[in-house]
Amino acid sequence: MRDWQGVTKILGPVLGWDRVLRGAAVEPYAADRWGRSALPPVVFVPQSQDHVSMIARTLYEAGLPFVARGRGTGMSGGALPMGRAAVISFEKMDRIIEVRPDAFEMTVEPGALLSSVQAAAARAGLMYPPDPASADECSIGGNVAENAGGLSCVKYGVTGEYVLALDVVLPDGRCCSLGSHARKDVAGLDLKRLVIGSEGMLALVTQIVLRLVPRPAAEATICCWFAEADQAVAALQGMMQAGVVPARAELIARECLRILAEDGVAVHPGAGALLLLGLDGTVSGVRDEQARAEEILRRQALALEAASGEQAEVLWKIRSALSPALKKLAPMKINEDIAVPLDRQAECIRFTENLAARTGLMIAVFGHAGDGNLHVNFMIRPEQRKEAEQAVELLFAEVVRLGGTITGEHGIGVAKAPWAGLRLDPVTLALCRAVKSAFDPKGLCNPGKALYGPVEGEISRLV
Ligand SMILES: Cc1cc2nc3c(=O)[nH]c(=O)nc-3n(C[C@H](O)[C@H](O)[C@H](O)COP(=O)(O)OP(=O)(O)OC[C@H]3O[C@@H](n4cnc5c(N)ncnc54)[C@H](O)[C@@H]3O)c2cc1C
Repeated sequence: MRDWQGVTKILGPVLGWDRVLRGAAVEPYAADRWGRSALPPVVFVPQSQDHVSMIARTLYEAGLPFVARGRGTGMSGGALPMGRAAVISFEKMDRIIEVRPDAFEMTVEPGALLSSVQAAAARAGLMYPPDPASADECSIGGNVAENAGGLSCVKYGVTGEYVLALDVVLPDGRCCSLGSHARKDVAGLDLKRLVIGSEGMLALVTQIVLRLVPRPAAEATICCWFAEADQAVAALQGMMQAGVVPARAELIARECLRILAEDGVAVHPGAGALLLLGLDGTVSGVRDEQARAEEILRRQALALEAASGEQAEVLWKIRSALSPALKKLAPMKINEDIAVPLDRQAECIRFTENLAARTGLMIAVFGHAGDGNLHVNFMIRPEQRKEAEQAVELLFAEVVRLGGTITGEHGIGVAKAPWAGLRLDPVTLALCRAVKSAFDPKGLCNPGKALYGPVEGEISRLV
């Protein structure tokens, strides 16, 4: 059995000593955007699949834990090195290897920034649709591991729907390819789908083949103010039932509007909800859809404004002004990303408003209304933490009762591990654990997360 010193002595000469970080150099790898941190004993920065395989094999043989890290923008502590795990950072495996427009495909390394992937697709006249709001900061490998969602899921779906194939390194260092370049492939069990969204617990992703789609020729934005969130949700449902499925449908509820107004954003007087809609398609298609959408929305709206080009960007800035405005309000922000069935969204928002009134906590809701994924933000002072965690538990119980889930896109990670059993029944959890041990019999790949939860008291020991 080797220790950290022993494995770094083996790996240093292979990777290059500048790719083995120790001491103060590991500090930037201790946290993600969940906000708590745990220092890793060592960080490895591979540059090829061979490097990744060598690192995994050496650590596995030595019985030492490790965790993959993309760019550390995760919101659930997924990349935190729990249990003194080594970090394997994919930041230097960031190449766009190939774009094949005729095949509507792109091959990339996992550390590539999502915005680089989107830009490379656009340069080829195509589009890579998934669009988490962290596109300029997050990696495509992190997106695959979290099955990231974002703003355009209502029409285009989540990351997993665009992954054709994955090259992976198993925790013991063996390499394999999952999926293929074929659009239809039912050979064997769909292990690729198991790895997508597995929060880095099954395998280390080293190469990704992505599916691309034609780039829409036209876009339009509609900004629609309502007195109540119920009306906004009903109007969106009416629009979709009439066949107009927006590319984006963001809902900003009452408390968020109040906070935006205090931050200087021009909010329509009397508005209790804002719906920001993005349409895309052919020029005539967008024109037609916009006319039909406006006709339906106006039946319930207080006011409606349509825009395109630069004017539309100004409207979307209302949405991007939100997170910074919320962060300014309190020293701590707990951001839950629950998801409920489309027809239960208004009920869920009402629940959060009652919860705020009952507990006195500041709770602000916005979200991807087209897919029922609502971000419920608790802005709290440190002494309110216990109370907020109790409120979160009530919220989770309610979303499960409504037929929804405790996380729509951020993953369970460490942050939601204590509540995994609320969403997953004991038989399902046991099956998940059996799958995990088929990939990782020693349990060394990203320990202390999702399926296992942190060991007793480990969360509270995090800085
Ligand atoms: C401002 C902001 C906005 C955001 N908006 C959205 C949003 O709209 N939608 C959304 O879904 N998320 C959103 N997120 C969350 C986050 O950006 C995503 O979860 C993203 O997919 C994480 O990517 P990352 O590269 O930062 O991964 P990391 O945080 O580094 O890691 C996340 C998980 O992926 C695993 N992982 C990373 N790389 C690999 C690999 N190569 N192989 C195996 N496992 C790996 C890690 O072990 C970890 O479990 C947002 C975050 C921020 C800060």
